[in-house]
Amino acid sequence: MASYTPMIMQYLAIKEEAKDAFLFFRLGDFYEMFFEDAIAASRELEITLTGREGGGTEKIPMCGVPYHSAQNYIARLVEKGFKVAICEQVEDPSAAKGVVRREIVQVITPGTVMESKALSDKTNNFISAVALLNGKVSISSCDLSTGELYVTSFPLQMEALIDEINVYQPAEIVGDEELLDKLQASAAWNRPILLTKRELVPEQKLLDQFGRQELVQLNEASLRAVNLLIGYLDDTQKRSLGHVRAIRSYEPGQYMILDHYTRRNLELTETVRDRSKKGSLLWLLDRSQTSMGARLMRRWIDKPLLSRTAIEARLDAVDTLYRNLILRDDIRSELHDIYDLERLVGRVAFGSANGRDMNALKTSIQRVPQLVELCKASGSERLQKLVDGLDDCADLADMIATVVVDEPPVSIREGGLIRAGYDDYLDQLKEASTGGKKWLAELERAEREATGIRSLKIGYNKIFGYYLEVSKANLAMLPEGRYERKQTLSNAERFVTPELKEKERLILEAEEKMVDLEYERFLELREHLAGQLHRLQLLAEVIAELDVYQAFATVSAERRFTRPSITDSFDMVIEEGRHPVVEAVMENGAAFIANATQLHKEHNTMLLITGPNMAGKSTYMRQVALIGIMAQIGCFVPAKSAQIPLTDRIFTRIGAADDLIGGQSTFMVEMKDIQIMTEKATENSLVIIDELGRGTSTGEGMAIAQAVIEYVHHQIRCKALVSTHFHELSHLEDSLPLLTNACMAVQESGDHVTFLRKLIPGAAGTSYGIYCAKLAGLPESIISRSYELLEVSEALVETDASIKVSTAAAAGADSRAAEQQAPSDEHKQVNLYEALQSGAALSNAPEHAY
Ligand code: ADP
Repeated sequence: MASYTPMIMQYLAIKEEAKDAFLFFRLGDFYEMFFEDAIAASRELEITLTGREGGGTEKIPMCGVPYHSAQNYIARLVEKGFKVAICEQVEDPSAAKGVVRREIVQVITPGTVMESKALSDKTNNFISAVALLNGKVSISSCDLSTGELYVTSFPLQMEALIDEINVYQPAEIVGDEELLDKLQASAAWNRPILLTKRELVPEQKLLDQFGRQELVQLNEASLRAVNLLIGYLDDTQKRSLGHVRAIRSYEPGQYMILDHYTRRNLELTETVRDRSKKGSLLWLLDRSQTSMGARLMRRWIDKPLLSRTAIEARLDAVDTLYRNLILRDDIRSELHDIYDLERLVGRVAFGSANGRDMNALKTSIQRVPQLVELCKASGSERLQKLVDGLDDCADLADMIATVVVDEPPVSIREGGLIRAGYDDYLDQLKEASTGGKKWLAELERAEREATGIRSLKIGYNKIFGYYLEVSKANLAMLPEGRYERKQTLSNAERFVTPELKEKERLILEAEEKMVDLEYERFLELREHLAGQLHRLQLLAEVIAELDVYQAFATVSAERRFTRPSITDSFDMVIEEGRHPVVEAVMENGAAFIANATQLHKEHNTMLLITGPNMAGKSTYMRQVALIGIMAQIGCFVPAKSAQIPLTDRIFTRIGAADDLIGGQSTFMVEMKDIQIMTEKATENSLVIIDELGRGTSTGEGMAIAQAVIEYVHHQIRCKALVSTHFHELSHLEDSLPLLTNACMAVQESGDHVTFLRKLIPGAAGTSYGIYCAKLAGLPESIISRSYELLEVSEALVETDASIKVSTAAAAGADSRAAEQQAPSDEHKQVNLYEALQSGAALSNAPEHAY
């Protein structure tokens, strides 16, 4: 160790501060990495590993990336879930005695990255902190790019914590060691999340960041999570976080609870298949014009409301915009010109905003008065209230307009960004520089005339400054001694004169001063704005909300959604309901078949849906859940009419192959979900179980399915939609008064089956599994053998005494009665089909109540 060079010693000392990060060590125009970092980085970034003498016995592994393209490499490492510590030279190398002083100036981590291709405009990038205190957990989440910070706490329950984490989908979690260990053990996510253990920082840090007023609203547990988060942000960012000032604290009970599987199964913000936004509810609804609106919409979808008044307020705003196309279009076009204020604010706070960002702020703010007018005149109470007393930040836009030119360059260090007339001295310098340049042009003209050399020109380069250039061919025309020779090129000579040098000095001096002064003035402006960020943040919130309203209204109008009526009762009544996304993606002009839903506390809380695969069962069940969610986020719904009660929680168990986590079988996952459901569901919940009881033997599966149905029916008494391929379970309708059988109508003709997608009363007679196999083109021998075996197994089921006894006992009826159910249901189904056939178009067919 002792034999290393001083620079390597410095490297090792700094590396101690960033053990869990790649240390990007600035050496001239490169960031270098050494030792293990170099080996790992060369592998991760596919860059060449070299070695460097460092005073030790062997060469030190080293690799590096050029300073100017470092962003790209940093982003790649961070996207892979690593941290990168940036170590800069913090003194002028020419002034340094010995090794240049270096310090870590920022640690970039997956949860704190501000500039990255991976950072989508329309998605927040959250980092969360989790804390455990006296049996309570808390979770605090911050998006550093926008400055939003949320916190909530509740009694320790890992499932609840994981559900809450999944709302934010953080790229990174910091917090109490014990909790992180638990999270690691129960990790229920299918993407990497970086976990970092943290200790509390002194409370003064929090007071400095937020002020006492923001903090008093928090309980101890929440305070702890916020502390762990801010401590980490402070340590990694090493700069003021002026835009993280407001803490939004909420109770989990304020929102509908949606567990991880339910969010995924219902494809609220991404699809199950490829986790893309396209094909999700968010994709359908997101007609927002601004990125702020898009992000807010995602948060609303993630957190449906439970307050009827709050939902009605949103619906009122949407309603107004829904009815008034002109107003909607006007608002849309104003919003269209508004940039991402939240992220601009973040860049101002971070000190990375340039002249163009300032102008983006300015033009965005300039749209506000018109938006305010439109809202005031809208006739909607909600929209009027939204802009009532709104600080339109006009002074800030004016200020930017007086300081910054219309088209500033990207860089803020090269001048050209401050408007003429803003600063007298700057204007003088500019005049000196332009005056100087005019003088040069005049000199060029005069010398051409005097010498007769028409190609004589004045040029500039960084090394020699201004010069007069004469081509070799014309040199003979130049009187000896007229100029002083400076540089010889292959085809020209360059000269100077004392006069030219004097002018050059004046011009360069003025330009240098100008650039410095412009930079200074720009920083003043940025600092002034940094002190006003809370005002811009409030404005951004209002704009985002308005944007979501217009988006809801736009999609609702285009897709013929209707305003749901939100009720305090139990009953859910949907007339001609549709699945919004399936309907939207249907091809070839095929029509989506609408279906009714009627769930009543008194006589029908549960629907048992049987029917073959592909009949449309799960689409139907999902559509009911989606309509409920859409209503509770304040959007119109795809139905002819809908009476929607407030649902406190939706459970779904919709089997999907990719739910296999940690080697658990589908069946085990299903049972765990059902266990949570039995524990958590209330009368106001909605339970959806698709294909209940599959994944184990028929006998057991059916037994469990029946027991679960009975439990939900007797104990929970909530609204429930259950589908099963055990059509034998349809006898339950006799013993469970609140359960109704339903099935998806199919048309059979010869050996053809057509799915009609219409939900009808009664149970399906058969599940057509073998028919599907035939459709899929399996060899005829397999098909006929299957039918043969089916007969044998059905005969076996008939004689399965244990099932029969329990069935009969539960039904409290003669088991024969249950057996006789099937034929009559089949009969009912065929008749209904005939009725549908002979009647008008399907969509006009009478809807049946369940
Ligand atoms: P199941 O759950 O019974 O196996 P699905 O709900 O998965 O069936 O539906 C199968 C396919 O049928 C869906 O992908 C969709 O394209 C189509 N579908 C379902 N319901 C309808 C409907 N009401 N109208 C039109 N097409 C539908």
